Amino acid sequence: MESSFRNLPSVDRVLAEPRLSAAVERYSHKAVAEVTRQALQAGRKGVAAGSAAPSPSQVAEQVLSLLAVQLEATLRPVINATGVILHTNLGRSPLSQVAAAAARQAALGYDNLELDLQSGERGSRHVHLEELLRRVTGAESGLAVNNNAAAVTLALNTLARGLEVIVSRGEAVEIGGGFRIPEILKASGAKLVEVGTTNRTYLSDFESAISSETAAFLRVHPSNFRVSGFTATPTLEEMAAVAKKRNVLLLHDVGSGALLDTTQFGLAHEPMPQESLVAGADLVFFSGDKLLGGPQAGIIVGKATLVAQLKQHPLVRALRLDKMQVAALQATLLHYARGEAIATIPIWRMITATRESLDARAARWAGVLAHKAKVIDTESTIGGGSLPGETLPSRALAITGDGTTLERLAKLLRAGTVPVLGRIVDGHLLLDPRTVLPDEDEVLIAALKVALA
Ligand SMILES: *Cc1c(COP(=O)(O)O)cnc(C)c1O
Repeated sequence: MESSFRNLPSVDRVLAEPRLSAAVERYSHKAVAEVTRQALQAGRKGVAAGSAAPSPSQVAEQVLSLLAVQLEATLRPVINATGVILHTNLGRSPLSQVAAAAARQAALGYDNLELDLQSGERGSRHVHLEELLRRVTGAESGLAVNNNAAAVTLALNTLARGLEVIVSRGEAVEIGGGFRIPEILKASGAKLVEVGTTNRTYLSDFESAISSETAAFLRVHPSNFRVSGFTATPTLEEMAAVAKKRNVLLLHDVGSGALLDTTQFGLAHEPMPQESLVAGADLVFFSGDKLLGGPQAGIIVGKATLVAQLKQHPLVRALRLDKMQVAALQATLLHYARGEAIATIPIWRMITATRESLDARAARWAGVLAHKAKVIDTESTIGGGSLPGETLPSRALAITGDGTTLERLAKLLRAGTVPVLGRIVDGHLLLDPRTVLPDEDEVLIAALKVALA
């Protein structure tokens, strides 16, 4: 036992191992020495428990794996070949080149985030987005916060705290990732009044639920599910008329917030903030990183007096965007204002990619992999809580195999230097080029070659 402890190598002895020299270069002598002490500590415990003392080379091996866990970033770029355009687990929407460059520039230096360059006085970060939000949605005013959940919470807490908010039973739902309408209302200090049934709610249900305590009607777009068959819901116009007459607010959480009409791409109609405003909603909420194709953000547009009220709330400070988000969101909104959104924003490019172009890319991937893969028809989806059940016909690279083989291949692809995510459907591992950014093709091919070798 005693001799075993004496056999434990010293820190310097381990650091002298040739295999650690590259690690010292990458992580500094100090960091590697620190981790070596941790590894030796573990070795000492092992000896105390009766194991033999590890050799310097064994400790060095241990040090390398500890360094990889402790000093490498866990957040890494991945290639999304799932065909799910707004993949929440993969960070939702990629930014346009211009928006990413704007965020980078903001990150690396200073900017006039809160400075009025003309007067030299302190300014507001909201001005960089307000006018643009007006322009692209037709709203009187607009405000952006950290995400849509924050936008809805801010509005309810400002306008309905201690008061009642009337919601259709079919819309008092959970929209994935822990966004549950009843809980958001509770957290905002508002009282949920549910009306109607899961499948049918009438205008009269809303109207008869109004009391002296009612602050608002809240409509929530059922973003990630569809209720079909025997259903009924009043139109926004009908609700707006009642809301106006009875002096309650009409709030509309449209979720994704498509500024472009999705029917032009052969998809179902996704609610547009512009339409909600025209229909008479007082405030409309939507995400920045769903069908807008921008950074994470929650956008509020509508009546100027209400937006001004929200801006006074102390929560605005807690929920505010940072300069990189402001920069990226402004650049994204400018794409819409300039009428260039389809050509510049990745998610619209993906949605509008033609079958021929997808087929050509998948065929090129297949060509490199020779007999191991073929190209088949598949369907891409929008994802991210938009257009549930809607698909886009696509072409994908398909690798055939039994369940275990495909699971193993998927795992290998995830474990690569640049992880590649596909999906397993009916005995195929499918890699859909629609969601793979064009400049990722070569990296994807290299990763596939390694995994299939
Ligand atoms: C996605 C979604 C949210 C949450 O938006 P985040 O930006 O993720 O906070 C809220 N409401 C609806 C209807 C949604 O679709």
